[in-house]
Amino acid sequence: MPPVNLHSDTQTRPSPGMRAAIAAAEVGDEQRHADPTTLLLEERVASLLGHEAAVFLPSGTMCNEIALRLHVRPGGDELILDRTAHPVTAEAGGPAQLAGAMVQALDGEGGIFTVAQLEHALRPAGDRYSPRSRVVSIEQTTNLGGGRVWPLGRIDEVLALARERGLRAHLDGARLMNAVVSSGVAASDYARGFDTAWIDFTKGLGAPVGAVLAASSELIEEAWRWKQMLGGALRQSGIVAAGCLYALEHNVERLAEDHENAQALARGLAQLPGVRIDPAAVDTNIVIFAVDDAPAIVSRLADRVELLAIDAHRVRAVTHLEVTSADIQTALEAIAELVG
Ligand SMILES: *Cc1c(COP(=O)(O)O)cnc(C)c1O
Repeated sequence: MPPVNLHSDTQTRPSPGMRAAIAAAEVGDEQRHADPTTLLLEERVASLLGHEAAVFLPSGTMCNEIALRLHVRPGGDELILDRTAHPVTAEAGGPAQLAGAMVQALDGEGGIFTVAQLEHALRPAGDRYSPRSRVVSIEQTTNLGGGRVWPLGRIDEVLALARERGLRAHLDGARLMNAVVSSGVAASDYARGFDTAWIDFTKGLGAPVGAVLAASSELIEEAWRWKQMLGGALRQSGIVAAGCLYALEHNVERLAEDHENAQALARGLAQLPGVRIDPAAVDTNIVIFAVDDAPAIVSRLADRVELLAIDAHRVRAVTHLEVTSADIQTALEAIAELVG
């Protein structure tokens, strides 16, 4: 039996239905705005997120990097975000190279910081000694924070403070639809107040390629310059955009199953001696648990369960559309044999 793949929700492969949609896609030259499937996807995502316009990009990383570049003036402008945030941990230092940003990382809980922490982090206006606080970014859901959902009220408070202090605001919505399904809050209610917001199609939504960045028409026009410059302007991208449209129609509501599987995993893990986890802290499809030696456990389990050691003690497991409830039992049995 192949191992149960809890490494990440990026591991999903296009389903037969998605492959059929991809095969049937109408296509044209995307960079001339002549790919009808990509245009339709952009329209759908702009409206889903409550923004005027949107642009299709090859990856979520490119959405973050382009959006941050739109907000930051190179040379001393500051980007404020949680220490575990993707641009800090997993974009090869992109904010420094591409946006020329100073980064101030906050110690949130589960990737979620408080308004007081943000307020404390803001630099005094007009002080030539300090960097200029320019943009605040949050992740919904938090990835290395453990798939936590930012409560809407907290987001509104962060946005209100950002506005009051003249900051731009960016939403990394790689897993926004997980937050939507878990909380029942509409995607537009989460995303509307941000200057830029995006969703990824290659996480729980199960598509092979693509992410869409939404904003005002003016910012999206400017984003296109960066898309062109970075080589993200495409040709017959309808081939992949069709997979994203299919995902929006078929793979959103079913995220609830991934959340149930994550809960079952968390509750099972909580029973094991040698594992530390609070199942109440599992909001969506990401389960982070602590053990004595995470890299050792992950490598000893590798042929039965694929997991990710995120540091010396913590292991991340992610559920997704190729993981069944039977797989969760298999994974729990394998983990129990090692740590029990
Ligand atoms: C995966 C991820 C990204 C990057 O998306 P890619 O499509 O893999 O480039 C950005 N932010 C978060 C929170 C993610 O989980």
